Amino acid sequence: MAGIIERYRDRLPVTPETPVVSLEEGSTPLIHAPGLSSILGGDRQVFLKFEGLNPTGSFKDRGMTLAVSKAMEQECRGVICASTGNTSASAAAYAARAGIPCWVVLPAGKVAAGKLAQAIVHGARVIPIEGNFDEALELVVEISEREGITLVNSLNPYRLEGQKTIAFEIIEELGCAPDTHFLPVGNAGNITATWRGYREDHHAGGTPSLPSMIGCQAAGAAPIVGGAPVKNPETIATAIRIGNPASWQGALDAIEQSSGDILAVEDQQILAAYDHLAKREGVFCEPASAASVAGLLKRHETAAQIAPAGGTIVCTLTGHGLKDPDRAIAGVELPAPIPTEMDALRKAMDLT
Ligand SMILES: *Cc1c(COP(=O)(O)O)cnc(C)c1O
Repeated sequence: MAGIIERYRDRLPVTPETPVVSLEEGSTPLIHAPGLSSILGGDRQVFLKFEGLNPTGSFKDRGMTLAVSKAMEQECRGVICASTGNTSASAAAYAARAGIPCWVVLPAGKVAAGKLAQAIVHGARVIPIEGNFDEALELVVEISEREGITLVNSLNPYRLEGQKTIAFEIIEELGCAPDTHFLPVGNAGNITATWRGYREDHHAGGTPSLPSMIGCQAAGAAPIVGGAPVKNPETIATAIRIGNPASWQGALDAIEQSSGDILAVEDQQILAAYDHLAKREGVFCEPASAASVAGLLKRHETAAQIAPAGGTIVCTLTGHGLKDPDRAIAGVELPAPIPTEMDALRKAMDLT
């Protein structure tokens, strides 16, 4: 399958001269979730847009293919980003593909192991800072302006343009937009972009209806819910550990225009959703991704209307579970080895 630039060329800011840097991102599966559907009842159908199956394991690739292609068109010196992890993994891969330098500035000790490994293996120059993500972003914005290095955070307008293609794919798959769309919110670029994609398709005569957009923030990093920046955001969902979202206004617009909402979900609720997805739906996503499903379940528990009976709900699962192996094995104690004998094996399997 071609990447998103080739597939949606007429809806993206590219020209025939734009050098396309692609890893064939997008075309991710929209997986039906029977367990969640039956929890909601009323013949409501829940689908998981599993963005963890992009080339570097997160939705960030949709925006990065366009941002790096445009950077090449403009003959950039290299790319730079601040990152909670997935942006850096994606930037590093696309920069490697393009043959240009990539610098990533990360909050030290707060990036999941899988993401850090990716950035390093792809050859990015990784610079941990003592501050948090919001502080890292301030630094890279300034240096990118001073040094003429292309910033590939979601402040780069091409990132959101690429990310809007998720809505096009969902509409193609379902035949129209869902009734409700839940997604995790960190910097709020993705909610802004997804809503833009739905609206553009609608205005072009595509989907007749538009979804309600429900953003889900971690309770310890919920500035939009609280209406004020959070100085020291904390959550196990490191990808959304952001206290001052760059696309704050975009999120507010999406929520207001779509009659949607913004929710805070506790880490415990995120981990319960993470567990449900893995154990009942067979889908392994990273904790931040599970915030969307945590929001869905929280709404259901408070008996809030989620979608009409027979309606359709999409949850974006933003990244792959293997990104954060430490979380996966946290709190699990592996049993001691057994003797290499049939009887011992039967016993360990609870068969005798
Ligand atoms: C980047 C990211 C988010 C947050 O997306 P925003 O556009 O910053 O709101 C959520 N989940 C994962 C896995 C991410 O990598």
